[in-house]
Amino acid sequence: MTNKYMFFIANWKMFGDLGTLNTLNKVIAFSKKIKKKKFKLIYCPPTTLIYPLTKILKKTSIDVGAQNCHESKKYGAYTGEINSKMLRGVGAKYIILGHSENRKSGENDKLINLKISAATKSGLKVIFCIGETLNEKRKKVTKKILAKQINRGLSKIRNKKSILIAYEPVWAIGSGLIPEETELFETVNFIKSKVKGAKVLYGGSVSPKNINSLKDINNIDGFLIGGASQVSNNLIDIIKKTYN
Ligand code: PEP
Repeated sequence: MTNKYMFFIANWKMFGDLGTLNTLNKVIAFSKKIKKKKFKLIYCPPTTLIYPLTKILKKTSIDVGAQNCHESKKYGAYTGEINSKMLRGVGAKYIILGHSENRKSGENDKLINLKISAATKSGLKVIFCIGETLNEKRKKVTKKILAKQINRGLSKIRNKKSILIAYEPVWAIGSGLIPEETELFETVNFIKSKVKGAKVLYGGSVSPKNINSLKDINNIDGFLIGGASQVSNNLIDIIKKTYN
């Protein structure tokens, strides 16, 4: 049971179309029923759905976020790219950056740092993802990896504590596995010691089945939820169980 203000961030990845937005009626009704002040729910759909989703969520407390952006905050000749200013312009308030799926396809800490810098300057609130691979966990270098990702990713970023840091062990994403409770508590504390005052979320296979143990880890400020967030009932269940 928690009484803390928590963040629930739905990462839809490359799933969903205009029809999918109708499935959110249940979540909207639920968010109006339970006390608004207790949590912030943020949907990060594919870019194509950001604008229509902001219209649907207009009179609700639910916010919309993006999943990535180009590092330039100016317009430019970058075919196929979208910058943070454009995302802010269509109503996104948050943005996920540094996700391991993008790190895997070539994003490095330097590029992520440029994106964070551009996004904050455009007025987006950043959800900065960090996490170790299974190999790094086995080698017991998790803290070293996280420290490197934080130091490089947040280099020269002002007001670091306004950044939401999502600890997402790469091996936990989409695998059904989650870290052991004491280990997760210690890792979240470590991240908080590196970025004083920052909120730290956990992401990786969060589901209605494991939320009861995750919610008891009292230094966690919220959850980044991938697969389970695509089914409204599952997301509602996760939020309800967090407060039960
Ligand atoms: C994610 O990719 O951000 C994520 C948390 O995914 P899942 O919940 O599906 O593991």
